[in-house]
Order: sequence, then C-alpha cells, then structure tokens
Amino acid sequence: MRLGFHISIAGGLDRCIERAIVRRCTTLQMFTAAPVQWARNDVSAEEGARFADELARLDIHPHFVHAKYLLNVASPDPELRAISVADLCAELQAAQVLRAAGVILHLGSVGAKGTIAEGIDRVARAVDEACECSPEGPLVILENAAGQGNMVGARFEEIARIIAATDCPERARVCIDTAHAFGAGYAIHEEEGLERALAEMDATFGLDRLALLHVNDSLAPLASGRDRHWHIGRGEIGREGMARIVSHPALLHLPFIMETPGTEADDVSNMRRIRRLIRPEHRPPLPPLPKGLC
Ligand SMILES: [Zn+2]
Ligand SMILES: [Zn+2]
Repeated sequence: MRLGFHISIAGGLDRCIERAIVRRCTTLQMFTAAPVQWARNDVSAEEGARFADELARLDIHPHFVHAKYLLNVASPDPELRAISVADLCAELQAAQVLRAAGVILHLGSVGAKGTIAEGIDRVARAVDEACECSPEGPLVILENAAGQGNMVGARFEEIARIIAATDCPERARVCIDTAHAFGAGYAIHEEEGLERALAEMDATFGLDRLALLHVNDSLAPLASGRDRHWHIGRGEIGREGMARIVSHPALLHLPFIMETPGTEADDVSNMRRIRRLIRPEHRPPLPPLPKGLC
C-alpha cells in the first residue's frame, strides 16, 4: 500500500518534493500548471529527470499528474473541446518528462442539453487523440464524477463504455474518488454498499483497471450529486466507512491519494488518521523524516 496527497508545485518541483516528505508520502499526485488557467510552462527534460530521480531515491512512487480543472473533453462546444484535448496532450507530454505513471482526467460535462451517450463518445475520441499525440506516453486515467451538472462518469458503467469505445484501451485506466462515488449515490460508507460498489466496478470496467484510489471523505451527503472533499473520517463516509475502504483486500495494492482541504497541518493529521484506520497488519511503514524538516 502507498499513501500520499495531491501536492502543490507552487514555488517549483523542489518545493513539491519537500511538501511530500513532510506529509510522509510514499506516492503523490500533482498538477503540471495552474489548474484554472490555460497557460503552461514546459518542464525541461533536465528538470523532469531530476524530479523523477529524486522521487525514486526517496521511494515515492508511483506519481501521477492531474489534468487541469478547465478541461472538458465531453463539451458540445467544439472550440472548448479542442483546447481541452490539446491541453490533455500537453499534460501527457509533461507527465512523460516527469516520468509520471499517468494523467488523471475528469471526464467533463455535456452541458444542459447534451446526453451522456454523446459525452461518452466525445471522451472516448479524446482518449484516442491523446494516445495518438503521445504514443509512448503515460496512462490516461479516467476519474469518476459526483454527477453534478451533467458530468460524464458518475456511473461506473459509463467509464466502462468509454474504455470499450476507445481504440487504445491498453492505455486507459480508472481512478475512483471515494467522495465522488458517495456523491453519485454509491453507499460505500456501509459494508454492503461497499461490496456492491466493488462488484459493480468489477462487472463494468474491471477492478484490474484501477490505477489508484482518491481517498477523500465527503462533506456532501450520499447521492447529493455534489463534490465536497472533506477530512478523513470526519465527513459523511465517516471513520468506520473509511476504515472499511482503506482496509479492503480488493484495494490494498493500490496507491491511495488524498485530496483533502486545508493546510499542511491538516494534511499531516489526515495522514495520521488514515494510517490509524488501516488494519495494523496492512499498515505500511512510515517513511523517515529527514533532519532539518519538522
Ligand atoms: Zn480529480
Ligand atoms: Zn479526485
């Protein structure tokens, strides 16, 4: 098992690594550019290699890139869709330079008038284009949605249909966000509901497609359609629900990435809490904290 956070790259890649160390990460996720602006600075091959070597030295792996929030590859607006696909290509190239395992993508929204079927088709074509523009590139990891605003991917079956419709299914993987699944109505806070959700994942896209789990508690209630990440064990999924998820035998081999809100101190306590919720026999060793960092 590997535990980590979404880590800010503000101040540069070296700062990102420092933040990961302080949080005792053994895996991480990052943006490669500001998530709410189209602008990006290319990461040089040298910077990328230095970053990847340092993460390897610290035994922080795998690491993932999260695409910008602006992207909407399911959009009915051809212009927005085109810049979204172009940015996804840039993201895959950046991820390759950083030696990331994959790029995590929100599947986007079809807007008020669109249908989910149209959205599924547009996302599948975007995955095809992404595979073409980065033939040797990292994985394209499709994240489930909470369901707000005609988002594609709130149902696991929709993700499976996208993968079935791509020309490069070998490059496609899945990231399940626990807060999004809960918002979408999967009762993963209960034992039976968790089993049902896992069975549904397996019957649709297949559990072996999972590349990682986004482990977040939810401030929004079950089936609210809302996406409100919250501190581990302090939300509607709760301590017991979270403990069951992070100790489930079907998930133990996956990297768990938290995207909880707040400060560095909040992250440190979320790490402490998630570790306590993992059964002792599965709890991974805590990575050392180098001298000079508190
Ligand atoms: Zn996400
Ligand atoms: Zn997420």
